[in-house]
Amino acid sequence: MSMARKMLKDGDVPMADGEQYDYDLFVIGAGSGGVRGSRTAASFGAKVAICELPFHPISSEWLGGHGGTCVIRGCVPKKILVYGASFRGEFDDSKNFGWEINGDINFNWKTLLENKTNEIVRLNGVYKRILSNAGVTMIEGAGSLIDAHTVEVTQENGSRQRYTAKHILIATGSRAKRINIPGKELAITSDEALSLEELPKRAVILGGGYIAVEFASIWRGMGAEVDLFYRKDLPLRGFDDEMRTVVASNLEGRGIRLHPATSLSELSKTADGIKVVTDKGEELIADVVLFATGRTPNSQKLNLESVGVDVDEIGAIKVDDYSCTSVPNIWAVGDVTNRINLTPVALMEATCFAKSVFGGQPTKPDHRDVPCAVFSIPPLSVVGLSEQEAVAEAKSDVLVFTSSFNPMKNSISKRQEKTIMKLIVDSETDKVLGASMCGPDAPEIIQGIAIALKCGATKATFDSTVGIHPSAAEEFVTMRTLTRRVSPASKPKM
Ligand code: FAD
Repeated sequence: MSMARKMLKDGDVPMADGEQYDYDLFVIGAGSGGVRGSRTAASFGAKVAICELPFHPISSEWLGGHGGTCVIRGCVPKKILVYGASFRGEFDDSKNFGWEINGDINFNWKTLLENKTNEIVRLNGVYKRILSNAGVTMIEGAGSLIDAHTVEVTQENGSRQRYTAKHILIATGSRAKRINIPGKELAITSDEALSLEELPKRAVILGGGYIAVEFASIWRGMGAEVDLFYRKDLPLRGFDDEMRTVVASNLEGRGIRLHPATSLSELSKTADGIKVVTDKGEELIADVVLFATGRTPNSQKLNLESVGVDVDEIGAIKVDDYSCTSVPNIWAVGDVTNRINLTPVALMEATCFAKSVFGGQPTKPDHRDVPCAVFSIPPLSVVGLSEQEAVAEAKSDVLVFTSSFNPMKNSISKRQEKTIMKLIVDSETDKVLGASMCGPDAPEIIQGIAIALKCGATKATFDSTVGIHPSAAEEFVTMRTLTRRVSPASKPKM
């Protein structure tokens, strides 16, 4: 028996009547965080059960599925659609490389939709198998807390069953929210957008976050007219301003109509489609209106308050550095805690939870230098600090190195679309604080750069690294000329 299991047994608290709990760990929600947390805990010898809602591509209070948002209605289906949409540009670019495409090139949405759905159904099965192979008991239904050691699982028909556990992990994720305007029920969220019966010819998207930008690229790539509305001057708030500007101009370059500093005020049904009225009084007609206006943590139905689990003003569960809630044996990971809402972060938090609680190795998740990507066409990817964050945090001057160039492929295809790369360096320590790239393959390249940042690489290390030629990535190790030096007191000059 492992040390971890021994520790767990030693720590077991008998119930009042002398009985043991049904489980060492009960997990609510089998998405990225819940699956990782339960199987890792089981690998340390814990007796684990997990509850999850029945499978459906579109989530609701009663529908979900093993694998969670990432697998069923997030990262995976989204990336499949991005792949599908990317062929359009490839067909255009191929002409100057000698490809003669005779006749029409038609896109069949139904084929892609069917293949996408088959893939998420397959992955849903894979996640169930992973749990069953790990010895985790799967229970279908909606979990909620009765007390600090009891979970009640309710079926849609109202039947209920209670389970006790020494520890409870809440990993219920989040769901898309809609803004409150007249006609809001005519709009869809990303859940439906990934499963539309018909491909829209005219799409209106509201939102400036990564999901809005990605769907704009997807639908445009598939041939739709796309209008993207957002509140700020640029999309992708929170990212480096210079990169946001590049993304905006690339979206426009691909034919997406941008409407900065504009929101929607009303939707109504007409014979020709959905009439959209903006807060500037403009009107347009669309087949589909997508609200990509943020997400709400799935915490409302868990009976948290009566058990003493604290939440913040948007309903995100408050946790400490080890993902422990205000109740010492109740833990929470992933989107329901609203830290960094990405799959790999939920996985990291869940692994650290299991190691800390069942593995005898107290481990805090490290939320610094988390790389991420926006799968627009072309994509943006970043790690570490943006220029604005670096200047805000810096004690010494910040050195900014940028490289903006026409990728080699474009010199033949004649596509007018620049790739841009950027390094942010601390002038005193020479440490690279942040790296960003907007251009083809950016996420694949930044993943490697993220390792360098995690190792504490300096600009000198980057400069002494030999490039891979010819590649775009080699620019990251050949940026010799300082673009600008920004002192903490001054604003960046662009
Ligand atoms: P989830 O994966 O949402 O899992 C929560 C699970 O809990 C769900 O299966 C739900 O059905 C279940 N559940 C909820 N309430 C209950 C209950 N009461 N009882 C039982 N079960 C319950 N992240 C990336 O890293 N890269 C991307 O490219 C990316 N793209 C995305 C695109 C879209 C359109 C969306 C919406 C998200 C995307 N994300 C992406 C974010 C990513 O999907 C989430 O960060 C991740 O899934 C969070 O994992 P989680 O375990 O916290 O929650």
